[in-house]
Amino acid sequence: MKPVLSHWLQNQQAALLQQWNDLRDTTTGPVATQVQLDLQRFALALAAVANGDDQPLRELFSELAAAEPGADLPALVRNLNQVHRATRAALLHDTPDLALIDTLAELFDQIIATLVDIWAEHTNQLIHEREFIAASLDAASAAADQRALQLKALNDISQRLSATLDRDELLEIVIDSLHRLTDAYHVAVWLTDPTNQLRVVASRGSADGPPVGYCLPPANPVIQAAFTHAGSTFWPAAPVDPDHDWLIAGCSVMVLPMIGGERLIGAVTLQERNNPLDLRFMQDLAQSIVSQATIALQNADLYHTIRTLNADLEQRVIERTRELEEEKDRLATLHAIASQVNQTLDLDQILNNSLEMLARIVQAEHASILLAEEDNPSLLVTRAILGAKLTHDNVVRFAIGQGIAGWAAQHGQTVLVNDVSQDERWISIPGSTRKREGSMISVPLFVQGEVIGVMTLSHSRTHFFNEGHVRLLNACAGAIAIGINNANLFRMISAEAERRYELLDRQQKETSQIAAILQSLLDGVIVCDLYGSVLSVNQAASRILHRPLEELLLWNLHDIIQRYLGNHAAELPLDDLLRRPLSVTGEARTFSTTAVINGRTINVSLSPVLKADENEDEEDEDELIGALLVLRDITREVEADRMKNEFIGTMSHELRTPMTAIKGFTQLLAMGGLGQLNDTQREFVNTIYSNTERMINLINDVLEITKIESGSIDLEWRSLHLAEALSGVIAELQPQIAQRQHQLTISIPPGLPLIRADSMRLHQILYHVLLNAIKYTPPGGNITIAARETLNVDLPEPVRSTLSDSRRYLMLSISDTGVGIKPEDLPRIFDRFFRTDNPLKVEAGGTGLGLSIVKPLVELLGGRIWVESTVGEGSTFFIALPVAHDRA
Ligand code: ADP
Repeated sequence: MKPVLSHWLQNQQAALLQQWNDLRDTTTGPVATQVQLDLQRFALALAAVANGDDQPLRELFSELAAAEPGADLPALVRNLNQVHRATRAALLHDTPDLALIDTLAELFDQIIATLVDIWAEHTNQLIHEREFIAASLDAASAAADQRALQLKALNDISQRLSATLDRDELLEIVIDSLHRLTDAYHVAVWLTDPTNQLRVVASRGSADGPPVGYCLPPANPVIQAAFTHAGSTFWPAAPVDPDHDWLIAGCSVMVLPMIGGERLIGAVTLQERNNPLDLRFMQDLAQSIVSQATIALQNADLYHTIRTLNADLEQRVIERTRELEEEKDRLATLHAIASQVNQTLDLDQILNNSLEMLARIVQAEHASILLAEEDNPSLLVTRAILGAKLTHDNVVRFAIGQGIAGWAAQHGQTVLVNDVSQDERWISIPGSTRKREGSMISVPLFVQGEVIGVMTLSHSRTHFFNEGHVRLLNACAGAIAIGINNANLFRMISAEAERRYELLDRQQKETSQIAAILQSLLDGVIVCDLYGSVLSVNQAASRILHRPLEELLLWNLHDIIQRYLGNHAAELPLDDLLRRPLSVTGEARTFSTTAVINGRTINVSLSPVLKADENEDEEDEDELIGALLVLRDITREVEADRMKNEFIGTMSHELRTPMTAIKGFTQLLAMGGLGQLNDTQREFVNTIYSNTERMINLINDVLEITKIESGSIDLEWRSLHLAEALSGVIAELQPQIAQRQHQLTISIPPGLPLIRADSMRLHQILYHVLLNAIKYTPPGGNITIAARETLNVDLPEPVRSTLSDSRRYLMLSISDTGVGIKPEDLPRIFDRFFRTDNPLKVEAGGTGLGLSIVKPLVELLGGRIWVESTVGEGSTFFIALPVAHDRA
């Protein structure tokens, strides 16, 4: 029947719902219940139940029961009954089938039974839940109590931890609190040390556990695990590990990391033996304490760091203040030394005062200054000793590089020796009483980068000096070195000034001596400058020239020469001399002449005044400072000479007269005018004749010399053709040339200028020279005569420098291929009576007077004669004669 009912229920669902809803209008209807029965869902569930499926209905009721556990069940049942009645009425209306009515009744009974079942079930569940909640509430309140206690304890600990910043105290609080609160078998606090190792810093409980100081490498797995989890770790039973003997066998172990900021600074380990799981309940509390402790420890560390920093800062302030004080002292010392150094230029005073000041400031017991020796700078010598005078005994000498002071000098570095007995550089000084003990400082003294000495300060205590002393001494060394240098410079300058003063004094004395000598000279002396202005004149010159000194001083030497020498002025070429004071061979050129001044015969010579080069450098020429004119009164000598010459002249004449008679008579005898002579007689007569002739020649020559010397040769100046003069001489000597079969060559170019000379004297000169060439050339030899015009500059020295520069000359040379003249004889060839030893000496005959007459004659004509010769090859006589100005 149920399927029929089910079918009907489905079909009538809409109508039924309408009717059921109508029931709500009544106050007692389903609406009145506290529970809103979803009628639509109920309709569906009813149909399902009719179909045998009570699941939708159960869900509907379960939801109702769950929604409101205290819902009014009787009201719900009443509602269901109303719904039953309404449904039955509808069913009855549709069908009179009573079986269906019964089935519907059964259905509703089943529904109500289901409702009651579900309701009961829910009520039971509710009761259970309430009981459970009550029990839970009890437990929760106990836990809350426990928690409150723990929080209080935590609070207390927090307060205690925050009350101190002492690390040891903090560790004590942590270890004590944890041990008390957890009642653990062993508690330990580990902190990482600077080497990153974990070290137990506080420990409490059983002696089995790790004691204070116990250390683990950083990478230990047990604690590392806590670190890596960054949270507490719990092992119910400690892992057995032989490397970790801090784990107590049979204990549970809890590791609580100490995390400060991002960093793990350590850990706390708790080990429990009796109730292994107890630890677990304390985990949060313990972790809280550890966290607080971590913060407190970090604060303590921070506080410690700040205090250390503070202390450091204070220390640095103290040190800086001390440094500044030292700096101030140093500057004051430096200032004191610099000002005392500036106050004096006395070296000893500078050295002694400096030593005294420095030794006082650095409290040195001994101090000395050694300076490099002036003439041997590689040697250091004591120049000052603190509190002592220098004596032979206390002055020492060190080679630079020797000893500590020598080392400082060699390396240019300050040396601080804390213990002299340990320093290998130390050397003992022979005779010194100084012991090898204590400490010392050696400071080099520099001037312009060079070490000039060393300052050494010492004390009998080792490690007495410090870097501050070194700085002070270094700072002062500069000022002292400058003082030493200044003193040395002053001494050098003073010595130089003194030397110059002495030099000046000596020069002044010499000058006045020279002036005195000059004035006392019998010869007149006039000195002029490079322009001829007279610089000094002596009394003798004033006397000879008949002019007051003052007047002569205003003159020019050119004027004096012109005025007093007249015709001879040209022989003293002052300008020429001042232009070229030295000959080519480097000798001073000298000109001289003789003139009659104020009735007196005066030999006047002119020479340059040269100042010897002080550097004695041979390369440098002497400096020309002017010219010197010397006037020698030779009147008396000339007079004596004149008398001598007069005597010789008279004598010669007296001799020549009888000699002429002898010669005439001998000639007469030889010619047989007085009867025929036999051979022996003729030979004797010939010998008498030739000797008489030689004697007459000799007398003639002597007379000639006398004439030359007495200046009594009067010259007849004329312009002459050299060739003309030569031809006369050659014609006269032609017989001799022919007799000796000489080859005579004459090479005189046409158009040569005329010469100015005296024709008789020129003939005499040429005759003598050509005769010599014939005489001293073996028969068949060659004789060559040549002539050319030349300038002074082309003449050889020393001839050239004795002639005026500006003139032109005709140079005649007479060369032969004769016996020649030895080099050593050449200088004497023009001396009186000098004859060389040569193979033709005897054959040639002669007196040795010819050339001694020729030379002064050439010079009288204003020319020069000189010779060049090679023994065995021949000789050349050169004669330079001035060209006549009038070329016509
Ligand atoms: P002497 O009457 O002896 O010739 P001189 O005064 O003329 O006197 O000459 C002096 C000396 O010079 C001669 O004795 C001779 O030794 C040397 N002498 C002169 N001319 C020549 C010459 N042409 N060759 C070599 N020797 C010469």
